[in-house]
Amino acid sequence: MKGECVIGTARAMPGARAVGAIPVGRRAGGAPIEIPLLLVNGADDGPVLWIDGAVHGDEPEGPLAVLRLVERLDPARLRGAVVGVPVVNTGAFEASQRGNPADLFTYDLNRIYPGRPDGHLTERVAYAHYATLVEHADMEIAVHSGGAHSYLAYAQFFTPTPSGTELARAMGPRWDLLLKSFSDRGSPQAAMKQHGKPAITVELGGLCDTFPGRFQANADALVDGFLNVMRHYKMIDGTPEYAARWMVGQQKTVVLAPASGLWVPEPGVLRQRVRQGDRLARIYGLSGEVAAEVRAPFDGIPFGMRTNPSVQLGDWCVFFGVVEEEISA
Ligand SMILES: [Zn+2]
Repeated sequence: MKGECVIGTARAMPGARAVGAIPVGRRAGGAPIEIPLLLVNGADDGPVLWIDGAVHGDEPEGPLAVLRLVERLDPARLRGAVVGVPVVNTGAFEASQRGNPADLFTYDLNRIYPGRPDGHLTERVAYAHYATLVEHADMEIAVHSGGAHSYLAYAQFFTPTPSGTELARAMGPRWDLLLKSFSDRGSPQAAMKQHGKPAITVELGGLCDTFPGRFQANADALVDGFLNVMRHYKMIDGTPEYAARWMVGQQKTVVLAPASGLWVPEPGVLRQRVRQGDRLARIYGLSGEVAAEVRAPFDGIPFGMRTNPSVQLGDWCVFFGVVEEEISA
């Protein structure tokens, strides 16, 4: 028999919704530091699906997708519960930066899980989120994008266990590029893995693609994926859909800028299969010369591309996946 669901300060009886937060501490001026959360507690039993946005503060697709999903759910017709965290790193979101500029010691929240309860500010945010997540969640989806620097297109990082693969495939037809997670440490996904629970990191959009209409379209594409996951796990009624085939591989590298200058990516290569040596972009020096050509380091698929035209030596340029196998549904 299902009872009241209490997560952080949010409390919801079966068939109800609530808003609340995971407390972290206070700012010097007294304002609370907390992680907001939206709880939809279904009327009937089922899994707890946890969705996290804005682990990186310059990636707004997750926040909008969480808000739009929660708005659409009817707790009376839901089995299990959905926990939506629109913004995990509120300090980074307020600054519209990847990390919280008030913490230069542990800037990137997605590299420091499970955090430390007695650590630097962002480590404490990580720990508060981590402890609540692994206590309550049966599965987790973290939403990322290209942020201020890049655009990323329908890629997901997954944990290649049976339950991790199942969750990745449940995102539906558009999410056919599955990349094995590049690290077993540091992210919420890695923390979930340590507890034997499935989690995925999905990548769509970037600040270059938040023009009116485009922003909503990216969020709605994410919501379509979440609803497909919920149909797959029978949290809501309906027939889930799947990709006809999956490209499975790994993020082999992020190509770093070999020169500084004006970044000009080639049209027609993003999320296309390319051959080793194919040109992906040019970097122009400001005297008009081509300072560097960026070429595909392997046969593979550029699933993310720098979109900020000002580029500096060593900056992220091309997120490059290598497809190791194609699997039919
Ligand atoms: Zn990110």
